[in-house]
Amino acid sequence: MRSVFLLFLAIAAAQPAGRVLVLEHARLVDGTGRPPIDDARIVIEGERISAVGPAASVPAPAGAERVDLSGRTVLPGLVDAHFHLDNSPPDPKLALRQLANGVTSFRDPGQWDEYYAGLRATIAADGLRGPRIHTAGPHIDGEGPAYPRDSVVARDATEARQFAERAIAQGATAIKIYFRLPLGSAKAVIDVCRERRVISTAHLELLEAAELFTYGLDGIEHITSLGPSLLPQLERERYRQAVLAENAARGPGRYAAFAGLDLDSGDARALWAVIGQRRPFIDATLAVFERRPAVPADPKDTPELIATRARGFQKMLATTRRAFEAGGRVVMGGHSSVPFAGRGEAPWREMELLVDAGLTPMQAIEAATASGAAFLGRARDLGTVEPGKLADLIVLTGNPVSQIAEIRTVERVLAGGAWVDVGKYRKD
Ligand SMILES: [Zn+2]
Repeated sequence: MRSVFLLFLAIAAAQPAGRVLVLEHARLVDGTGRPPIDDARIVIEGERISAVGPAASVPAPAGAERVDLSGRTVLPGLVDAHFHLDNSPPDPKLALRQLANGVTSFRDPGQWDEYYAGLRATIAADGLRGPRIHTAGPHIDGEGPAYPRDSVVARDATEARQFAERAIAQGATAIKIYFRLPLGSAKAVIDVCRERRVISTAHLELLEAAELFTYGLDGIEHITSLGPSLLPQLERERYRQAVLAENAARGPGRYAAFAGLDLDSGDARALWAVIGQRRPFIDATLAVFERRPAVPADPKDTPELIATRARGFQKMLATTRRAFEAGGRVVMGGHSSVPFAGRGEAPWREMELLVDAGLTPMQAIEAATASGAAFLGRARDLGTVEPGKLADLIVLTGNPVSQIAEIRTVERVLAGGAWVDVGKYRKD
């Protein structure tokens, strides 16, 4: 939290006092899901939006700096709900490249906060006002953790509670439960999150989705989190025991298991009903799971394996759609490095895949803006283009509402009312 505060001071210092910026003649897609405004005017005072609407009803203050964005589309800055700095050592330039591609806020759902020191230093040195970093502390996992380096191991509910409290005291705005954590300990973490008003999220797999949503879990990472909860009980227990014996058992069977899921079974219908009541955030991270027919992930892959993975992936899309239709609040989680997107482009690919799953382009935009901001716990100041919100905006040459792939036409990025040097951060 302290480093966040220092960053805030650095930003405040760099902000020219009283600067008024007016963006005009753009098509505005404001993130709320409302229809676009064709000739919009957006007035920005300092780091915040002060007025927005059709040009005819929003006057431009005298003396303001005016930018003509005719033919362009303006959207709220994108929120990537699932970002990793990737690799060791950490790669801060990836976050800046994503910023240049329109991602003005992100969450790393499971990492020691210290990992972000380098990125924070670069942001401060360059006088940037983004990306806005949200951390969750390390995963809280059980014994035999899936990712030892990024985890703390809680042996009982008391330890789980302590780890959650400590991460929140150190600035975490969410806590991620990992699948080896026993059920009682997972509930203890959810209790802490509720008491401290931070978001609880989870990579479930071995934990029952319906039970934890009912208990108060706010969201899930990876659509695969829901997979085992949708398996017939016998297969579910077999999968649990295999993974408990060896984490690597998740790999080979996952796509095959997904390919065979029945999304209309009794357990599935019960899960959709709980999702409808509790409206959890669904961070599907589809791009990291994407597999295509006839494209091997490894030269040794057999044609049968490639086909099974592609079918499993199609079922992941269908599961995401069902969770969305049931009332789940789908967000966009890019997951940094994914099979079918270039460096820094995973968030764009994820939005395309949300449309492949069955969301409209407008719903995919909402997932990546307003819903993402709500999942960060920042609905009050991020995620839509409305008076009072932080001026994190992106300018596109294309129109992603008619064709989601045009999300890739990001031309300019405004973070906290200041333009980002897009060319500079797209170099590496
Ligand atoms: Zn991840």
